[in-house]
Amino acid sequence: MGDDVYDIYAIRYGHHHRESSENFIGGDPHDIPQPLDYFVWAIVGAQGTFIVDTGFDEIMAQKRQRQVTTPIREGLKAIEIDPETVENVIVTHLHYDHAGNYELFPRARYHLQDVEMGFATGRCMCHALLRFPFEVDDVVAMVRKVFAGRVEFHDGAGQIAPGITVHRIGGHSKGLQCVRVKTKRGDVVIASDATHLYAHIETGRVFPVTYNVGDVLEGYTTIKKLAPTMRHIIPGHDPLVLTRYPAARPGLEGWVVRLDAEPKAGKSG
Ligand SMILES: [Zn+2]
Ligand SMILES: [Zn+2]
Repeated sequence: MGDDVYDIYAIRYGHHHRESSENFIGGDPHDIPQPLDYFVWAIVGAQGTFIVDTGFDEIMAQKRQRQVTTPIREGLKAIEIDPETVENVIVTHLHYDHAGNYELFPRARYHLQDVEMGFATGRCMCHALLRFPFEVDDVVAMVRKVFAGRVEFHDGAGQIAPGITVHRIGGHSKGLQCVRVKTKRGDVVIASDATHLYAHIETGRVFPVTYNVGDVLEGYTTIKKLAPTMRHIIPGHDPLVLTRYPAARPGLEGWVVRLDAEPKAGKSG
């Protein structure tokens, strides 16, 4: 196996019960319970450990009426990752559920799109509707990291390490990026919120929290080009990820799963 081939873990840390009508612009004709799970991802290989997103903590969960199922630190510990030693964190976008816990990785360099920082600190944040998914403390923490020389900006596509690239998608948040990772089963695309659920990209529907609907829909096309098959696309909030992929090891079922492993059959498979 080459130095540019990685293992990928999805680590669930949170949960939110909701109805399917809340997950799509225009509602959903089925109107069934359709909860969201919250994840961070770990990419592990010869080049090191790369964390994708930093989630939210218990205080934020209470403020936003979400549930922390297991703190991120414990999820990382379960697969022997010490946050103190992590050197690279990729932030897909600055929403509260992706950019909290901002002191968890004291040594890390953060990778972010230019456009996302401009969006989260500029005139769009004058509008309550657009700033709602952001937390000012998360954004300020990222500004402080810029001033500390700890942020590496990307503009469109960028390489983080051999076999790991980021790609700007936009749409849901103006500077949202996804991450493509080389694995033993081919390139896997961690879509993050470029598709919250499998259902969004499979049916061409759009999650209600959106900056630009057209860019979300174009993003589905981009992701499909980046991934060899639909089975290589990982949605940002779908509980099905935990049943389609095997546990990282016995005892971690429903919590930490391996995305570089072949998924069990589903509509996307
Ligand atoms: Zn988001
Ligand atoms: Zn999200």
